[in-house]
Amino acid sequence: MKIGFIGLGNMGHHMARNLAAAGHAVTGFDLSAPCPEGVLKADSAAGVAADADVVVTMLPNGAILQSVAAEIIPAMPTGAVLCDCSTVDVESARIVAQNAANAGLLAVDAPVSGGIGGADAGTLTFMAGGTDDSFAKVSDLFDIMGQKAVHCGESGAGQAAKICNNMILGITMAGTCEAFALADKLGLDRQKMFDVVSTSSGYSWTMNAYCPAPGVGPQSPADNDYKPGFAAELMLKDLRLSQQAAVAADADTPMGERATELYSTFVDDEDGLGMDFSAMLPRFEKRGRG
Ligand code: NAD
Repeated sequence: MKIGFIGLGNMGHHMARNLAAAGHAVTGFDLSAPCPEGVLKADSAAGVAADADVVVTMLPNGAILQSVAAEIIPAMPTGAVLCDCSTVDVESARIVAQNAANAGLLAVDAPVSGGIGGADAGTLTFMAGGTDDSFAKVSDLFDIMGQKAVHCGESGAGQAAKICNNMILGITMAGTCEAFALADKLGLDRQKMFDVVSTSSGYSWTMNAYCPAPGVGPQSPADNDYKPGFAAELMLKDLRLSQQAAVAADADTPMGERATELYSTFVDDEDGLGMDFSAMLPRFEKRGRG
């Protein structure tokens, strides 16, 4: 396949490299990041789109996605697929898909989980929205860049799945961290806390697989001075997207709202920027109720 790849940052760099390594003809464009090995550099976004079967985008947010889409949609050949793997708001995903359809193109929103390590290793999980036809045309590419792809429904369904999952993740991490901080103040040993909770009804991915307490449970960013991992500011981005979607859909999400407030304060005012999102534990540790 002829693939255009726009957005060669932390994630896109590895994803484009894996597509090229699998034998596809990949042309890449980024405003500043260099092209990975095996990827031919283009001078503009429209330049990568001109004769592509599929254009993959991996960009910072919905506004940038919409502006890049406006540039590439007129340049893409009829029947080509615009596959956006960025995490963006549901509304932007739907607008881009509609504009693509109006121009005779197919569109898939396919945000990922698995982080930079997953992008590097080709083990991402894709959650996709779009028609059956669109999904079928790019599913081979998902197999190269990832280990699992779930077709979640119509356009926007991939983004909806991603932000709902990450809203649970943010809430659960905050809950796990505050429980550890409470346990500390009650004089409960952290290892004992882990031994009980990880095999009791309080268990969760954040406790069992990504424990925020250093030296407890499997290796996690807590054991590496809370270097990310999954950075607190990326958690905040996804929580904000969940609240934006909740407002638009009139959904009551009080826990998501509180987690968004916590991560917002953490990132903006409490040195959380650049830390792993599990560094919420030392943040709680330092505080009392006041
Ligand atoms: P990044 O900032 O490293 O990469 C984004 C790239 O887009 C940058 O290289 C930037 O120069 C480029 N870019 C910006 N505007 C552009 C334009 N108009 N034209 C061309 N290129 C442009 O970000 P990332 O960590 O690679 O994340 C990309 C997306 O994936 C985001 O939506 C993020 O939320 C999502 N995501 C990231 C992770 C992660 O762990 N980093 C995990 C899951 C999902």
